[in-house]
Amino acid sequence: MSGNKSLAKSDAWSNAEAERYYGLKQWGGGHFSIDENGYLLAHPRGDGSVIRIQDIVNEALEKGHKLPLTIRIQDLLRTRVVRLNELFNQAINEENYAARYRGVFPIKVNQLREVVEEIQDAGSPYNFGFECGSKPELLIALAMHKDPQALLICNGYKDDDFIRMALSGRRMGKPVFLVVEQLSEVSRIIQLSKETGVQPLMGLRIKLTTAGEGKWASSSGENAKFGLTSPEVMDAARRLKRAGLTDCLQLIHFHIGSQVPNIQTIKKATIEATRFYCELCNLGFPMSLIDVGGGLGVDYDGSRSNFESSMNYTLREYTRDVVYNIKSICTEAGVAVPDIISESGRAIVAPHSILVTEVCDRISKTSVVPRVAKPTKRKPVIQDLQEILDNSHQSGPLERYHDAQQKIEEANNLFNLGYLPLKDKADADALYWAICRELVPKETSSAYSPDELEALPQVMAEQYVCNFSVFQSLIDHWACDQLFPIAPLQRLNEKPTVEAVLVDITCDSEGKISKFTDVEDVRHSIRLHPMDAKEPYYLGVFLVGAYQDIMGDLHNLFGRVDEVHVFLEDGEEDGFYIEDSIQGFSIKDVLGFTQYDGHLLTRMLKKQIDRATKANQIKPREGTSILDEYTQLLEGSTYLTKSSDRSAKKRRKT
Ligand SMILES: *Cc1c(COP(=O)(O)O)cnc(C)c1O
Repeated sequence: MSGNKSLAKSDAWSNAEAERYYGLKQWGGGHFSIDENGYLLAHPRGDGSVIRIQDIVNEALEKGHKLPLTIRIQDLLRTRVVRLNELFNQAINEENYAARYRGVFPIKVNQLREVVEEIQDAGSPYNFGFECGSKPELLIALAMHKDPQALLICNGYKDDDFIRMALSGRRMGKPVFLVVEQLSEVSRIIQLSKETGVQPLMGLRIKLTTAGEGKWASSSGENAKFGLTSPEVMDAARRLKRAGLTDCLQLIHFHIGSQVPNIQTIKKATIEATRFYCELCNLGFPMSLIDVGGGLGVDYDGSRSNFESSMNYTLREYTRDVVYNIKSICTEAGVAVPDIISESGRAIVAPHSILVTEVCDRISKTSVVPRVAKPTKRKPVIQDLQEILDNSHQSGPLERYHDAQQKIEEANNLFNLGYLPLKDKADADALYWAICRELVPKETSSAYSPDELEALPQVMAEQYVCNFSVFQSLIDHWACDQLFPIAPLQRLNEKPTVEAVLVDITCDSEGKISKFTDVEDVRHSIRLHPMDAKEPYYLGVFLVGAYQDIMGDLHNLFGRVDEVHVFLEDGEEDGFYIEDSIQGFSIKDVLGFTQYDGHLLTRMLKKQIDRATKANQIKPREGTSILDEYTQLLEGSTYLTKSSDRSAKKRRKT
């Protein structure tokens, strides 16, 4: 392993600087740091136990996995479950709150069995339950649920099959709550309860007037597609009484959208929902639960602000505010406090998962060195650009920039009109880029620089080509501008000198990352290390465990990536072991999703090869080897594989 490279003085760079630049301390919640050799470390429990992330990558590669790779750090998942529960319990103790916390995990945020099992296991001392929002999720929840104290909350639109299955869960003694999202569901539930003779447990989702805030704000407010308005709540209450089901209604639910950046929104929503709770108590319903939904944020950029990729509160503040506000409203109304449910998905699962990709190429404007032709042979426009580069006229930076822009436009026009040959256009472009490179404001300079020059690093940024698909692995980045922290897994003790943006390997210009987290602002490029032909350069994209896992699409037919599940283990050499690994989609798999059958395609190709062989276009031996290659590729990865991998495989085969 490389590592301790001797560094020139001007390149001096400390781990502390790397931690600051990549924001590890800000977004990492104490789970990430750098070791003395510049490798990124994970601290799954936030204590002394550490895993070097590159060791996981290496072991996964040894096991035959390919990049891109999803790493799940199972102990980090457990840590988050425990922390949420402990902090709620702590807040309840501090407030002398006379009821308990009974959280549930919303399955839609990450349905993967290993994730759901780990959360259930870590949550079992707290009777942690499940929330489901569709029939498939209900089927997962019913089968997995085993603790009679753990709640099972059903949200989302429900048809008769959904309701019937939930009632069957009741019959099995499970605390399954049907949360009414639409008034029409009330009559359906009443009807099916009569038919089956099962008493349901019910909740009402309230359409709060407190509007959400952040990207997913439209989940709430009067125009949201979910929940009951106050007249509908009254209507539902009357219908239930009339049907003799007064005892069934016990829960009030709200959900104001995911990633709520501002704690004030959460406080207001909690107060409003608690008011509904108290009023329903006074109407004679045996109310006993308030469900505050999801929305608990993740501080993706570490700025602790109400910016949409951040949150202006801590987990501790959240739990205390929820408990305090419910208590104070209930106390005022003279109503006993309810058990508190939260459905925090993102905050539990986002941190445990890391996407690792390898930089496989670069697209650079800056590596071109302009040719220096003899002055007598230069075209005037080239001569002018050369003078701007040499700064022969001693102009200021902005003036040089404007002059260079004028000249490059002139050169482009001349080329388009046929007056400038390609070799001169190449010189003009190279000179222009060299000028821009010089004009990029120095990071060390504190002097003010005009906007046009401030934009230069972004214009001049190199493109690092990374082996992954934004549409598969980071769909929220593309679809909703969600920012994720990104950092190299190695060489963090070395000063990063290249301003870069990341592009993926899809044939889609949107397949890129050109916005990066920063404590102060959004960055439009990220500083990375120059590529080194000898050592692979791995990048980690962090906090990707929520939603991204399942929402990725098959754009360009890249599919699910390989995945390993990592557990801490004191006895093991590197402090961890890989328990499960999941193969990503093969080319054959993704073709299957679009109705192509691998065998059929192979047969179609074989027919053509036979024909070509008969016609003496190719030799029989060549034909067989083309077919072999084709069938091998069908079984292989959709992502880029290294030529070294392929020849190694061939060698093993022969
Ligand atoms: C999506 C969803 C959640 C999870 O929200 P997070 O912000 O990820 O915690 C919880 N409850 C309901 C009803 C949801 O739709």
